[in-house]
Amino acid sequence: MTDRPHRPETIAAGALGFEDAASGAVIPPIHPSTTYIRDPDNGYDRGRVYARADNPTFDIPARTITELEKGADTLLFASGMAAATAVFQALDPGDHVIVPDVMYWAFRNWVHGPATRWGLRVEGVDSSDTDAVRAALRPGETRLVWLETPANPLWTVTDIAAVAELAHEAGAWLAVDSTVATPVLTRPLELGADIVMHSATKYLNGHSDVVAGTLTAARKDEFWSRIKAVQTQQGGILGSFEAWLLQRGLRTLFARVRWQCAAAMTLAERLSAHPQVAEVLYPGLPGFRGHGIASRQMTGGFGGMLSIRVKGGTQAAIDTAAHVGVWRRATSLGGVESLIEHRASIEGPTSPVPGDLLRLSVGLESPDDLFEDLGQALNRASRQG
Ligand code: PLP
Repeated sequence: MTDRPHRPETIAAGALGFEDAASGAVIPPIHPSTTYIRDPDNGYDRGRVYARADNPTFDIPARTITELEKGADTLLFASGMAAATAVFQALDPGDHVIVPDVMYWAFRNWVHGPATRWGLRVEGVDSSDTDAVRAALRPGETRLVWLETPANPLWTVTDIAAVAELAHEAGAWLAVDSTVATPVLTRPLELGADIVMHSATKYLNGHSDVVAGTLTAARKDEFWSRIKAVQTQQGGILGSFEAWLLQRGLRTLFARVRWQCAAAMTLAERLSAHPQVAEVLYPGLPGFRGHGIASRQMTGGFGGMLSIRVKGGTQAAIDTAAHVGVWRRATSLGGVESLIEHRASIEGPTSPVPGDLLRLSVGLESPDDLFEDLGQALNRASRQG
């Protein structure tokens, strides 16, 4: 490998300057091997033993993410959920944990369900209210504060730096789900977080063809060793082919996310003026509650995710999603194709998401086509109602 350049766009695009010593190939190989040769002296001089712990296919994507997040180490998991749950499984029974009220729904269900059955004391707060986080912290008892910002699907924004300071004063670690912001827009470790998590299923891979998760640590400390042990022992690792696809997806991360931010901003502004839209939720809009904090902690854009609240309520929202053509009616986010989803019907009755909300993941299509398609769907749904 050649010396690595330092600007993030170059790091993401360059696969760390990989070139194959034997062939001169510029594209990294896939290593499907599950096991590695033991040396005649019975050691493992090359440092790899068995693929549940070691896989050279992980090196480029893991190191690329480590550099983009300005961390010390990255682990690749079989999914975002495998990554997020590993952080909680590294805690001790009885530990107090603070989580946001608005967060990815399946993880909220897990932290308030199985995690509590294993003895964690989990408390939900409005993390966008720093005073509420301060009041919820129990110095010496709270071991972890978990954040997600902007938080799916209301795009609630939390001040990472402020919460990091409070968490550390209380003796707690801070972990941030930064799936929606991506390292293009926010680097939580620079703002004081200890761990940053991604569902790499979304923007990091970006092509809706890999389920993956990542954790990056600010330091290789004892807590990080525990998380690594959870992964190695439980085996929630990424497959070799998925890791290879992830490094390929990472190479276009900056171009994709910047396009998606610009398109989402255009759509947020144009949809705000649409007669059938009651409200647009997007951190880039000056009237949005978290806009001030987002302007400080997100650099270069406000992300590719927004939600709209449709006039006419739940049925009008569902009917709108039924009439789109360019948008695809599907769950997930962060891919090249734009997705629209009625969240309340997937999240169920415990969800804080209103029934009239449609979540929009903006892809790489023409923003004009996306606006016209959604505009006609909103109009048709309103005539139906
Ligand atoms: N975090 C966020 C913000 C998500 O949107 C998702 C999935 O939608 C996850 C975590 C879970 O990731 P995965 O589906 O890769 O397990």
